[in-house]
Amino acid sequence: MKEALQQILEDAKKRLQEAQSLQEAEDVRVKMLGKKGQLTSILKSMGGLSPEERKELGMQANKAKGEIEAMLNRTFEQLKEKAQEAKFKAEKIDVTEPGKEFKLGTKHPVTITIEEISKVFKSMGFTLVEGPEVETVYNNFDALNAGPNHPARDWTDTFYINDDVLLRTQTSPVQVRTLKSQKPPIRVFAPGRCFRCDTPDATHSPMFHQVEGLVVDEGITMADLKGVLDSFAKQMFGEETRTKFRPHHFPFTEPSAEMDVSCFKCGGKGCRVCKGSGWIEILGCGMVHPSVLKVGGIDTEKYTGFAFGMGVERVAMLKHEIDDIRLLYENDMRFIEQFK
Ligand SMILES: [Zn+2]
Repeated sequence: MKEALQQILEDAKKRLQEAQSLQEAEDVRVKMLGKKGQLTSILKSMGGLSPEERKELGMQANKAKGEIEAMLNRTFEQLKEKAQEAKFKAEKIDVTEPGKEFKLGTKHPVTITIEEISKVFKSMGFTLVEGPEVETVYNNFDALNAGPNHPARDWTDTFYINDDVLLRTQTSPVQVRTLKSQKPPIRVFAPGRCFRCDTPDATHSPMFHQVEGLVVDEGITMADLKGVLDSFAKQMFGEETRTKFRPHHFPFTEPSAEMDVSCFKCGGKGCRVCKGSGWIEILGCGMVHPSVLKVGGIDTEKYTGFAFGMGVERVAMLKHEIDDIRLLYENDMRFIEQFK
């Protein structure tokens, strides 16, 4: 019996030293100390012994049990630590490993230009407003003083959805929506997409962008219009930029004008960009026609206002010397990436 105990003890020690996992250590515990374990069966078989022998063997068996338990505890601890270390090792982040390349896109030149224009008008206290691209015929034409016989209303110039709805041909209907929904003082600008039945060529696209502006308050005059737009031109094209206003006609403004800026490429001497004239036409503007103000229920005896609109593509093409509007919509990355 004594030899058997000694054998069990040594066997347990050896197996625990070799144990590589918690499961293997647990197997040793079951094999030695479990209900059907080797040590348990020795204790069970002591019934046939004399009381003295039983006492002595019992003491030795308990001592062996204690030793095995202590060994088991140590082994469990060590194996747990080992498992933890392995886990840390596996989860370790290698900070020296090169990062994954992340391809950043670039802003489209039209977006860049809208942002540049917006920045200038925001700095002058204008608020950004927006309107739908699918508009009523009334907001796009009638409310803007373009009567039933106005040439722009022609079926061949405008994308009609039906008799009363169309794709807006200009951002000016946002003026109508603003006049109906806001009370003076009004100071807004509205960038957005417009549509006309144009065959694409170097300077025309059936889809294009405009930025509209509208100011309505007491005592607004043509001097305010000129001051705001001259300041815009200087901020947009450079401090030395000069402006000039030429009389023009728009149905929704009276008087109306077109604004030219001195060529930012040659400074007015004449070059390819300004086609030799030294001036570049940049936008249309004027004092808001009283009948347009009346659409918004605004007292025309008390309030006056001015409005302006410009083509975004035109500004982008001039600033970046792009000679064909179609380049802006081909989505060729080699072209777009130049505007990083
Ligand atoms: Zn020039």
